Amino acid sequence: MILKKEHIFQLEQLIAEANNITLITHSNPDADTIGSALAFQNILLQLGKYVVVVCPNGIPEFIQWMPNVDKIKVHDIEGKSVQDAVMNADLVFAMDFNAPHRTANIEKSMQETNAKKVLIDHHLFPDESYFDLMFSAPEKSSTCELLFDILRNSLFKKFINKDIATYIFVGLMTDTGSFAYSCNEPETFEAAAELIRYGVNVKETHDRIFNNNSIDRLRVLGYSISDKLRVFPEYHSAYISLSAEELGRYGNSDGLTEGIVNYALSIKGICFAALLTEKGDKIKMSFRSKGTYNVNAFSRANFEGGGHHNAAGGKSFLSLEETEKKLENLISKIEIQC
Ligand code: 5GP
Ligand code: MN
Repeated sequence: MILKKEHIFQLEQLIAEANNITLITHSNPDADTIGSALAFQNILLQLGKYVVVVCPNGIPEFIQWMPNVDKIKVHDIEGKSVQDAVMNADLVFAMDFNAPHRTANIEKSMQETNAKKVLIDHHLFPDESYFDLMFSAPEKSSTCELLFDILRNSLFKKFINKDIATYIFVGLMTDTGSFAYSCNEPETFEAAAELIRYGVNVKETHDRIFNNNSIDRLRVLGYSISDKLRVFPEYHSAYISLSAEELGRYGNSDGLTEGIVNYALSIKGICFAALLTEKGDKIKMSFRSKGTYNVNAFSRANFEGGGHHNAAGGKSFLSLEETEKKLENLISKIEIQC
């Protein structure tokens, strides 16, 4: 996407006319959705707006150090005030997701609010009918990188500070697996360089995300790899599945299993990996691929999900065992090439 001057102008206008702004993150929030929302909130607060960040459910431990993360309103904890924040807003932003259903328990308020709606996101296939203004850039590494482009090309540039740069850097770093994938465009590294000029400390920020694991997180990783990894070399596929009971053994905190799917994908000759986690009445699915296999299409077709070409999520309302069977059956049929 090439940023259009008229879109930036419309954004500036919408913000100028709004007093009450709500920034919405997607469910099972990651560092890109939280980082972009907190960065934008910081800018909007400097403009004197009343700004709330709302989130459907729990924020992973590894991003809880971010300044002002404790002020985010989480629907699972304070549903009424999240609904009020969406219903009473003049302007709402969808940060890092492409359609209202990605916000689970906030979706209803998103459908009912009279607020103007703006999308800032890098997922494929945004719901164009819902938004008044869209910044949709699937070619961008992260929503944080896209937001940084928007800010740098708008009246808001002068408000960028070290905290904002750090939030944005975290989204960029985590959505690219520490600059390993989804970052083959020079612009991503140019953005990272610029963020360092704003004062980001790379080592410190990296340590806060990646060298800050709870013991439970490390142990569940060890257990997943040693006991739960199922590999299908003939189909270039592998998956890990964890029941609610197994997750409970490790405390089942938010974000506990974040990143585990990548270990299944890291096996030589494996180009499709999945992680199944039993959450309440459904199974949460994470899909990753190397190369040409499109897990976004796979998840849309089979598990009510979506995401990106090489990283997508989805869900199943079958039992864990039935979901495993369904997945294994699909794995044996889809032709995955490495
Ligand atoms: P994860 O496996 O880390 O939960 O998700 C991988 C990517 O797919 C993320 O960019 C996430 O936002 C997106 N994603 C996860 N679940 C869903 C879903 O149910 N629908 C859609 N459209 N995208 C999803
Ligand atoms: Mn993202």
